[in-house]
Amino acid sequence: MEIKRVGIVGAGQMGNGIAHVFAMAEYEVLLYDNSVENLFNGMQRIHKDLDTLIRLGKISDQTKREVLGRIKQVERLRELGPCDLIIEAARENEEVKKAIFKELEPFLAEQTLLTTNTSSISITRLASCTDRPERFMGLHFMNPVPQMKLVELIRGIATEEFIYTELKKVVERLGKTYASSEDFPGFIVNRVLMPMINEAIYALYEGVGTVSAIDQSLRLGTNHPMGPFELADFIGLDTCLAIMNVLHDGLADTKYRPCPLLTKYVEAGWLGKKTMRGFYDYHCNPPRPTR
Ligand code: NAD
Repeated sequence: MEIKRVGIVGAGQMGNGIAHVFAMAEYEVLLYDNSVENLFNGMQRIHKDLDTLIRLGKISDQTKREVLGRIKQVERLRELGPCDLIIEAARENEEVKKAIFKELEPFLAEQTLLTTNTSSISITRLASCTDRPERFMGLHFMNPVPQMKLVELIRGIATEEFIYTELKKVVERLGKTYASSEDFPGFIVNRVLMPMINEAIYALYEGVGTVSAIDQSLRLGTNHPMGPFELADFIGLDTCLAIMNVLHDGLADTKYRPCPLLTKYVEAGWLGKKTMRGFYDYHCNPPRPTR
């Protein structure tokens, strides 16, 4: 089989980055978001990221035009019907993801591959709600997609071996490296990363240190490029909370319980960089800790 046309659902920080890297690798991309505003913002973001590559001398103006020419925005989910590969990158909510696959299915060709960029939700469970569990996989990109080298590949219990082989080839064509993870909550990266972020929030909650002190400690004490609060704000606190809930529910161990302070920030709508306020306030330069 040949994958030529790729449909992406969700043009948020992950979806627009995924569209960018597929178009750079000369795939034809159809990008859909159920929010016209987010679709517009996603396209703006791709423009900006390509301009950065021009400034760095990595691509020419002509390449930018060609890359943008390969990305088509669509206003209805069904328009992704003619795609060979679908990548779902809507928000981290199981019901939302299942509803997208259900709505899309009747418009897809039999051989179309379905994938999800979920950070934590069971691939087997999502696959079982579709008409093609054997052609379904987790294709988990890292944020920011154009810069990050890794893609986690996650097979559900029913995934056919040749689908896994096809998607390995896709990852290689994107110039990225894959790691295979078994289908357990949070896979590999978030199984390790999210409890660390959650623990940093507990340390803040219990008064062990301030946002600045904890971030500085992890940056300089463990050589992490970003502190846990900077990283949590970058990922999105709603996504962090959703992942912790999946770990907590799926592994049934109290060590994964989300810190109440994380819940409080999400309830306040302080979701991190994307809403300009989370553990830092991004209206200030440099961003100011909010606690
Ligand atoms: P985001 O909030 O930036 O974007 C989500 C987008 O999905 C929004 O533009 C929203 O309008 C759109 N959307 C919501 N419901 C939809 C629907 N029914 N149909 C079409 N579009 C819909 O979120 P994000 O950070 O891009 O995360 C997207 C997915 O990628 C999540 O599953 C998340 O867990 C995963 N992920 C996130 C990160 C990260 O660091 N943020 C990293 C890897 C994977």
